[in-house]
Amino acid sequence: MASTKDIYLVIGGSGFVGRHIVEQLLRRGDNVSVFDIVQRYHDVPFYSGDISDQEQVSTALRRSGTTCIIHTASPPAGLNDPALYWKVNVDGTKAIIAAAVQNKVRKLVFTSSAGVVFNGNSLSNVDERLAPPERPMDAYNESKQKAEEAVITANGKDGLLTVALRPAGIFGPGDRQVMAGLYKVYEDGKTHFQIGDNNNLFDWTYVENVAHAHLLAADKLDTPPPAPPFSTLENIPLEAPPLTEAELEIITRPLPPLDLTVGRRCIPTSEARPLGPFVAPPPNAEQLVAAFQDKRTHPEGRPVVRTRFDPLSEPNIFRAKFDNPDSTPLQVAGQVFYITNGEPCYFWDMPRLVWNHLDTMFPGHRQKRGYTVLSASLGLALAFGAECWGWLIGKEPALTKFKVTYSCVDRWHNIEKARRVLGYEPQVSLADGVQRMVDWWRTEYTSGTHKTAH
Ligand code: NAD
Repeated sequence: MASTKDIYLVIGGSGFVGRHIVEQLLRRGDNVSVFDIVQRYHDVPFYSGDISDQEQVSTALRRSGTTCIIHTASPPAGLNDPALYWKVNVDGTKAIIAAAVQNKVRKLVFTSSAGVVFNGNSLSNVDERLAPPERPMDAYNESKQKAEEAVITANGKDGLLTVALRPAGIFGPGDRQVMAGLYKVYEDGKTHFQIGDNNNLFDWTYVENVAHAHLLAADKLDTPPPAPPFSTLENIPLEAPPLTEAELEIITRPLPPLDLTVGRRCIPTSEARPLGPFVAPPPNAEQLVAAFQDKRTHPEGRPVVRTRFDPLSEPNIFRAKFDNPDSTPLQVAGQVFYITNGEPCYFWDMPRLVWNHLDTMFPGHRQKRGYTVLSASLGLALAFGAECWGWLIGKEPALTKFKVTYSCVDRWHNIEKARRVLGYEPQVSLADGVQRMVDWWRTEYTSGTHKTAH
C-alpha cells in the first residue's frame, strides 16, 4: 500500500472503465476528481478539458492537488479517424506526461490495451516479452501503442513513476460497445451466423477486475524494486546474478487456481483443453473434465516449476533487466502488464451466453435454428465485397476484414506477471460478469433506453 494517501485524478473518468475506477476509489474513501471532455456524473469534483491541451491538464492537476493520475481517456475503437486517434492518444498522452512533470506528480497509471500487440495473427498465451508489431491492426491500436511507449519511456524522468496496463475485451455494466453490438445482432435476428470454427480462444475482462488492477498498480507503483535495476549498479553484469530473496518470493509463491467460472485452472493443451463454459460438450468431454480434475496434473499449490521458455524464469528475468536497465520485470514502475479474466473462452461462447440471457428477457424472439457456419476465408471474401460496396456507396460496411479476423484467431494472454507483481487476481468471473452486465442492460431497457422492436 502507498505510505501516504494519494490524491487521484481519473482522466476519462466519465467513461466506462474510468467510472468504475472512480467508484472503487470512492468506496475505499479516497480523494478523487475527474478530468474529461464530458461530465456524466456529479459526485466528485470535475475538470472539463481536453487532454491534448497541456495547460488544461496542468490546471486540473494544480487545483486538485493530484499525486496520482489514472489516464483512461481515448476516443472509442472503430472510428475511421486516424488524426483524432493521434491527437488524443499520442499527443494527449504526451501532454499529460508533460503536465505531470510540470506539477511534480509522482504517479501515472495508463490504460493501454492488449490490442497493441495484435497484428491479425493468432496470439496464444502471450506474455509481456512480445514486442508490439511494426504494423498494428489499425490506427486506434497504433496510437495506443505509441502512447504506451511514451508512458513507459517517461518512467523515472523528473521523479515520475509510470506503469501501463493492457486489458483485453472489457465488458460489464456501463459498456456501450460490446453489449450494444451484441444486442443489435440479437435484435436483427442474426445470432445464428458464426464465422470461423469457434475453436479459437479469446480473452475477456470484467470491468471491475480492470478497475481493481488500476488501483493495485497505483498503490504499488512506488514499491521499491525487489532487486536493484542494472542502471544503478557500477557495472552491468554480463552473467545473471543470483536472484534476491525478494525476487524469489515473487516468482515461487504458489498461486491459487485461476478460473472462476469453472472453478479450476484451465490449461489449453491437447490433454486438458478447457471446455468453454457454454459450448455443447464434445464427444471426449468426460476425458477432458477428468484431466482438469486430476489432482496429480493440477494440484492446487503445486511447487512452481519453470523452464527457460517461461517469462519469469531466471534467464528471462536477466534478459529483461538487460534490455531495460532502468527497471526489472518484477517491479511495477516502468512495466506493462496484461490484465484479463484469466479464463479465455471460445470466441462465440461469450456472445451466445449474452444472447441466451436476452432470451429470458424476450421469450419467443428467437426461433430455434441451427448455426450457419462460414469459414474464415469465406468470411474474408464477403468482407472484401462488403468493404468495396460500402466504399462505392459511402457507407460503413457491417462486415469488415477486421471483424472477421477478430472472430477467427486466438487472442489470449498470460497474466502471471500481473498476478505475481501487482497481486492481481480476477475478482468477478466471466459468467457472473455477464450476468451483471445483462442485469444492468435489463434496467436500461425497462427504463426506456435502447427500447426498439420488442
Ligand atoms: P470510454 O469511451 O467509455 O471512455 C473514455 C473517456 O475518455 C470518455 O469519457 C471520453 O469522454 C474521454 N475522452 C475522450 N477523448 C478525450 C479527450 N480528448 N480529453 C479528455 N477526455 C477524453 O472508453 P472505455 O471503454 O472506458 O476505455 C477506457 C480505456 O480503456 C481507453 O483508453 C481504451 O483504449 C482502453 N481499453 C478499452 C477496452 C474496451 O474493451 N473497452 C479494451 C482495452 C483497452
